[in-house]
Amino acid sequence: MELEAMYQKLGVSPQVFAYGQHVLERLRGRFDEIDRTAEYNQGKVLAAMQENRLAANHFAATTGYGYDDEGRDNLERIYASVFHTEAALVRPQITCGTHALTVALSANLLPGDELLSPVGAPYDTLEEVIGIRESTCSLKEYGVTYAQADLRPDGGFDFDAIRAAINERTKLITIQRSKGYATRPTFSVAQIGELIAFCRSVKPDVKIMVDNCYGEFVETVEPSDVGADMVVGSLIKNPGGGLAPIGGYICGTKACVERCAYRLSAPGLGREVGANLGLMPAFYQGFFLAPTVTAGALKGAIFAANLYEPLGFSCVPGAEEKRHDIIQAVTLGSREAMVAFCKGIQAAAPVDSYVTPEPWAMPGYDSEVIMAAGAFVQGSSIELSADGPIRPPYAVYFQGGLTWQHAKLGILLSLQKLADAGLAPTDYVS
Ligand SMILES: *Cc1c(COP(=O)(O)O)cnc(C)c1O
Repeated sequence: MELEAMYQKLGVSPQVFAYGQHVLERLRGRFDEIDRTAEYNQGKVLAAMQENRLAANHFAATTGYGYDDEGRDNLERIYASVFHTEAALVRPQITCGTHALTVALSANLLPGDELLSPVGAPYDTLEEVIGIRESTCSLKEYGVTYAQADLRPDGGFDFDAIRAAINERTKLITIQRSKGYATRPTFSVAQIGELIAFCRSVKPDVKIMVDNCYGEFVETVEPSDVGADMVVGSLIKNPGGGLAPIGGYICGTKACVERCAYRLSAPGLGREVGANLGLMPAFYQGFFLAPTVTAGALKGAIFAANLYEPLGFSCVPGAEEKRHDIIQAVTLGSREAMVAFCKGIQAAAPVDSYVTPEPWAMPGYDSEVIMAAGAFVQGSSIELSADGPIRPPYAVYFQGGLTWQHAKLGILLSLQKLADAGLAPTDYVS
């Protein structure tokens, strides 16, 4: 068969290919559902571009101060209409997701205020931003305190603990939508809506920020549709569509976003400065592609769980579970298996496919880490990538794929490398 021959050329044996096809047969219904979400979200982005009369002049590069940058301003109007917010800040000067979150937090918290996370510990890099781990220039250093309500053992919200944690100094509540690299569940937008409503019932004027990383376009609604004052994310994840080479966004109320603009540039200057540096075509086109790129990554995540779980590797989320972000964890059980898995992902890459990933002692981590990525944009995790700390339970976190077809190849090659190393069965389909 022609397709099988192509996979063989790319390094996938007929046995692994056949197993993949067998797994896929059961996924058709779920893939259809993902396509329907993508179709709706494509319409949402397209309508926003049409309503804001996007035109070729918006692609022009600006340099220097960037006063009267129509391309930049219109992109922000389009983001605001997609997220149904009053305002948006979408800039190449926001260097990554952590930076966007830092701007949103430090702009909206003043000395004496308290920040609350009602969903347990935040993403690793935010620990230093907040001052949970001591760091120069942390919010803690500026006199902003931090409180946390942990999730219940079953992953649900602990409403009593949250009520008890909210006090007269609680100014801002931060909710992380995706599990990130933790083992708790990712929240649906509906769950986030319930949590926001509860927090507001305790303290009506509290500000709510949602870390939206990896969640954009996975559902037809976003946290800003269920009451968040700010939603924040990175352009080298879902909303950049693989084309944005840098950037972050903050969408929200005019009051919150204005403060973010003053924090990002300078008081008095705000959103008026910030040249677009010729990145507008990539930002616009990436946003246009983002719903379908996200759909491809979601299919890859579901395929991986359904391929690996029957072979005895436990997966989070599980094969049958509903998705609220694009991250898939696969527990492989040994260092060797993690290395083999990552070798497969790397071998499938369009860039640096000839490189062999090795575990290394990455700064800031207490164990060795392995990473596989052969991306057009360095560090882009909407492109096919896998990584994980080399320690029990030896789980890799897999995400991305600019196309579903590429994600599929990467996952099949990861299994191929495991089988070649004798770390996975080879007699899948009878
Ligand atoms: C990726 C991520 C971040 C940080 O984004 P960077 O671009 O890596 O700085 C923050 N929160 C979550 C949940 C993420 O997935």
